[in-house]
Amino acid sequence: MNTHTSPSHGTVRSEIRDRIAILTIDNPPVNAGSHAIRKGLIEALQAAGDLRGAILIGAGRSFIAGSDLREFGAPLAWPELPDVISACEEAPFPVVAAIHGVALGGGLELALGCDYRIATEDARLGLPEVSLGMVPGAGGTQRLPRLTGRIAAVEMVCGSTRITGTRAASLGLVDALAEGDLLDAALTFLAQDRPKRVVAQMTVPDEDPAALQAACDKALKKGRGRPNVAEAIRLVQASADADVAAVLADERAVFQRLRLEPDASALRHLFFAERRAGSVDGLDAKPRALASVGVIGGGTMGQGIARACLGAGLPVTLVERDAAALDRSLSALCDALDARHARGRLGDAALAAQKAALRGATDVADLTGCDLVIEAVFEELSVKVPLLEQLDRLLPENVVIGTNTSYLDINAMVADLPGRSRILGLHFFSPADVMKLLEVVRAEATADDVLVTGLALAKRLGKQPVVARVAEGFIGNRIYAAYRRRAELLMLDGAAPQDVDAAAQAFGFAMGPFAVSDMSGLDIAWAMRKRQAATRDPKARYVTIPDRLCEAGRLGRKTGAGWYDYPETRPSPVVDAVIANARADAGITPQPFDAATIQRQLLIAMVNEAALLLAEGVAQRPSDIDVTLANGYGFPRWKGGPLWWAAQEDPAAIAADLDQLEQAIGHGFARGPVAETLAALKD
Ligand code: NAD
Repeated sequence: MNTHTSPSHGTVRSEIRDRIAILTIDNPPVNAGSHAIRKGLIEALQAAGDLRGAILIGAGRSFIAGSDLREFGAPLAWPELPDVISACEEAPFPVVAAIHGVALGGGLELALGCDYRIATEDARLGLPEVSLGMVPGAGGTQRLPRLTGRIAAVEMVCGSTRITGTRAASLGLVDALAEGDLLDAALTFLAQDRPKRVVAQMTVPDEDPAALQAACDKALKKGRGRPNVAEAIRLVQASADADVAAVLADERAVFQRLRLEPDASALRHLFFAERRAGSVDGLDAKPRALASVGVIGGGTMGQGIARACLGAGLPVTLVERDAAALDRSLSALCDALDARHARGRLGDAALAAQKAALRGATDVADLTGCDLVIEAVFEELSVKVPLLEQLDRLLPENVVIGTNTSYLDINAMVADLPGRSRILGLHFFSPADVMKLLEVVRAEATADDVLVTGLALAKRLGKQPVVARVAEGFIGNRIYAAYRRRAELLMLDGAAPQDVDAAAQAFGFAMGPFAVSDMSGLDIAWAMRKRQAATRDPKARYVTIPDRLCEAGRLGRKTGAGWYDYPETRPSPVVDAVIANARADAGITPQPFDAATIQRQLLIAMVNEAALLLAEGVAQRPSDIDVTLANGYGFPRWKGGPLWWAAQEDPAAIAADLDQLEQAIGHGFARGPVAETLAALKD
């Protein structure tokens, strides 16, 4: 056996069996396609001699989980991936990629550069480069359409979707599915004297031009018109009608340019930040068992949490106050599952399995067999505290209890409970089966294994966890409140709501703050302001405008009017009048704000609040803030999150923005350690 190694990550082992070279890629833990792997592959292929074929296969749990992103911020060293692919294509014998686990990005491009692909049914294949601000750079946009057609290729490349081995076989992306041992299957496949077949020389299948155009339009819209999405579409389109060598060179040049641009750097930052956010530094505990879940409260959140758990294969017992409420919740839940089924998002078997895994109850004593119980009842201490007390008394010690409170003080809520160490916050976002973010709240008494059980739940549900300490609004809602407050003060001082919304959207937010408020309802924040009225500092600036709108019944979309008039979403003369009155009452002469100032002021409000809560220890690390905003609040991913954005700006401009923020907020302004926070982000 020959072994090819190099000083950087990974090894390629080469073994010849019956004139077939078996090249095993071994770069634990995920076989990332590093420089050493590329070099090892080229050397092994060139040293191969007189062979009937070669098989590329991954050691451990995957083929290749993608390129090593750490290499992407700097010049790439020879050999690059296209060099390895050329060696596969130029080899005088057929090369087969034997795929298990994942084949992503450069891993899949390498497989596409082989003559044949064989995969396990549950393998996952995808080209995630577009979600990282780039385009595939080693022929992905050219070889994939030759196998699948351009429609499927556009969908897969632009959506950065991962497909199973089974689906890949149905699209023509893999040539055979392996039953039993993968290497044996690949050896058997090659034993049938396969001819050499270079994918890049194949013809792109003809497809209906209108259907192709529709797929491209849809991908561009879904990709929010980002330049890399447009480039990916152009390149896939060109696979059919241009010289393949020229388009491969074009693709490589686009990739080399995009990988060094700000969008790609920001998205790489989020990529690493998201992986880090699911861990707690210095914690070494094992999660508890997680095989069944109880959900208490079958309202908006309870139903969404139940759907998320069912979708992840976890049986759910849903508890409501009485039989009538339970009936309503269960039938709403089943209707939602039926609707998913009708839209083709849930197969027949999955629908039946999820319904069979759902049980209802009106007594929390029925939850004793669950591993985890999540309460999502009304946001009232008088409801939550007795319920938690009852759960702690009734449920066996091993059962973990989660509360989905948005704002309440979990430490105070559980202070008197003997079992408080098994309680944590699990703050889902609405709709809970769709939104990626899950704030896992570590209360003072929460045990380490309970905390990691919360993180394991997030993983099981496919959510992005962020660990927070107890604080009003935890991480996300607290930062969002500062952002919304700044938006309201900009309005009071002279900007129209539609100007603020337009500026936020132009920055890349899916919606501006006033449009969001109309969507979720103005009454939620109104109720909170009423609760806080007695303790509010009378000297602090207070914007009365939303209170006046609520008093006039303008609660948002659900009442047909809020910050805007609906259904057409038009600025409202009624709102203009309320704003004018509020300015007159406060003696304010409105001043103009341009879009850039509005954007920077909204962002700096977030950045300042983030610095404050990091200093208080509410969040673990600056990058967690970016993960929170990008996954739960529509912050444009290609800007990397508020702290990444600020860290790219001139420090003097950020300091000036902070001064302007301080002036606008006035009495009670707390200035956070922004410069230190941004410096820590770079660590
Ligand atoms: P909701 O009013 O829609 O639902 C609450 C449900 O709890 C109702 O169906 C009610 O019948 C039931 N309930 C009340 N007391 C109960 C009891 N003792 N036993 C069993 N069932 C009981 O409220 P929601 O919007 O789903 O919010 C629930 C929790 O989730 C709150 O703590 C809220 O702050 C939090 N939350 C809400 C959102 C959101 O966007 N709605 C987001 C994150 C967190």
